[in-house]
Amino acid sequence: MSHLTLHRPADATPEPKFLSFREAREALAARRCHRAVDRARHEFQNRSCPRCRRVTVEARELDDHALNRNGAIIPLTATVVGFQCSTCWHEWQV
Ligand SMILES: [Zn+2]
Repeated sequence: MSHLTLHRPADATPEPKFLSFREAREALAARRCHRAVDRARHEFQNRSCPRCRRVTVEARELDDHALNRNGAIIPLTATVVGFQCSTCWHEWQV
């Protein structure tokens, strides 16, 4: 008997299923692609500071970077939660 439990919220309709290695790899690649596209879109939309209109804007990220097989951080894979202007120090959320 397994000691693992499966949590399924009441509103979840799809049945949990096992993915083949190929299906799992394709789903993960699609998710990474969407995250990269979303990040690029957010950076483009927030490329200038709304207060001083300068382009000295840096992204504020969570500490959830993707790691490669050596355990090193893959750049630009963290979740962007906001932006900060390095001139006037104004911060805003995504
Ligand atoms: Zn600014």
